[in-house]
Amino acid sequence: MFGLSKTQIEIRKAARDFAKGEFDKDQACELEKKGEFPEKIWKKAADLGFIGIHFPEEYGGGGLGIFENVLIVEEFCRRDSSIGIALALAGFASECVLRFGSDELRETFISGIPEGKMLSGGAFSETERGGDFTRIKTTAVKKDEEWIITGKKTHVLNGGDTGFYVVLCRTDSACGADEQGISMVLVESGRPGITAVDVGRKLGGNMTATADVSFNDVPVPVSNLIGIQGKGISQLDSFWDEARIVFAAQAVGNAQGAFDRTLEYIKGREQFGRKIAGFKVTQHKIADMATKIELARLITYQAALIMDHGKSDGRLSAMAKITAARTAMEVGAQAIQLFGGYGFMTEYEVERYYRDAKVIELLGGTQTIQKDAIAGIVIGKI
Ligand SMILES: Cc1cc2nc3c(=O)[nH]c(=O)nc-3n(C[C@H](O)[C@H](O)[C@H](O)COP(=O)(O)OP(=O)(O)OC[C@H]3O[C@@H](n4cnc5c(N)ncnc54)[C@H](O)[C@@H]3O)c2cc1C
Repeated sequence: MFGLSKTQIEIRKAARDFAKGEFDKDQACELEKKGEFPEKIWKKAADLGFIGIHFPEEYGGGGLGIFENVLIVEEFCRRDSSIGIALALAGFASECVLRFGSDELRETFISGIPEGKMLSGGAFSETERGGDFTRIKTTAVKKDEEWIITGKKTHVLNGGDTGFYVVLCRTDSACGADEQGISMVLVESGRPGITAVDVGRKLGGNMTATADVSFNDVPVPVSNLIGIQGKGISQLDSFWDEARIVFAAQAVGNAQGAFDRTLEYIKGREQFGRKIAGFKVTQHKIADMATKIELARLITYQAALIMDHGKSDGRLSAMAKITAARTAMEVGAQAIQLFGGYGFMTEYEVERYYRDAKVIELLGGTQTIQKDAIAGIVIGKI
């Protein structure tokens, strides 16, 4: 079904070779332990065109599709889950600017992402409102030629030393809790009045900073409004349709990486006088893992392909995300099991893959949120 084109095969090979040459296991363990972003690798990846391959060429991207981005993200996460996640999320939410921002915003802010000069973050969640963005409290009040942003966002990826945030704000208090009063505003991270406090060590995804970001009367030009005033929620939904496919690609790569390591291990490890790969029960576990990964890959590719053909299908994106993330969790757990006690040790990496899988499952909304999105489309208006 998915016969890759010659170019796509070359891109996948190039990403695989790059990851093989540049992702060092010991360095990855060290960076993960310290919670450091793999900056040098990111810059090299950007130089070679792996970051933002789906961005238009006029903004420094590769002018290719989400499908090609999926292939790269999958290969990176397969070779090293934590580095892969960090690189895949380096330009998180910048697609909101690309999709809806004015020419001026795009020209000013987008090229820094594929060039590896800038990170970006999506400041959507608030402490009391993780999934229901219609109830956010952060405000953007128009004063002369500026928006004044006030509020606190939580769990912001790349929060801190970032180039810019896409901030979800309430721009029209007259709308009450209505989503029509919510908009997206671009806020440069260096503006006075912004405080970013790192949340510290997490279970997984530790090479990407996550911060609580406070906006204390932060002024930005009115031209920093992204897209249409009052359309922040529908723009966010449209962004999630794309972002969920990229989360799914991270999960597929993560699952494949845990699987690769397991396959190698069971062929080498001997118990009761034979390789553990020789036990029927092990073989069936491997068969189940391989089947799940293939299914997750197929739905992820299908979602990416459909989006590249201009047909946004939120149902399929959420299905891909939920299927792939669950697969990564199940494959990761089984990988640890097949490694036995060694699976629990940092050295064998599968424990890190398992921890990273859990983060992917949470990013972009819990399973509840994904199922809400699927059911909302499948059932329609009641
Ligand atoms: C590492 C990490 C990075 C993140 N990065 C970002 C980021 O860059 N930007 C950003 O804005 N956010 C980010 N988030 C936030 C993330 O999107 C939220 O954590 C997630 O949406 C869940 O929200 P919550 O934590 O408030 O949980 P809650 O929404 O409080 O959910 C708690 C539990 O209640 C369940 N639940 C919630 N609503 C319902 C319902 N209606 N019916 C039944 N059950 C329900 C959930 O499934 C869950 O099990 C990040 C989170 C993590 C962990």
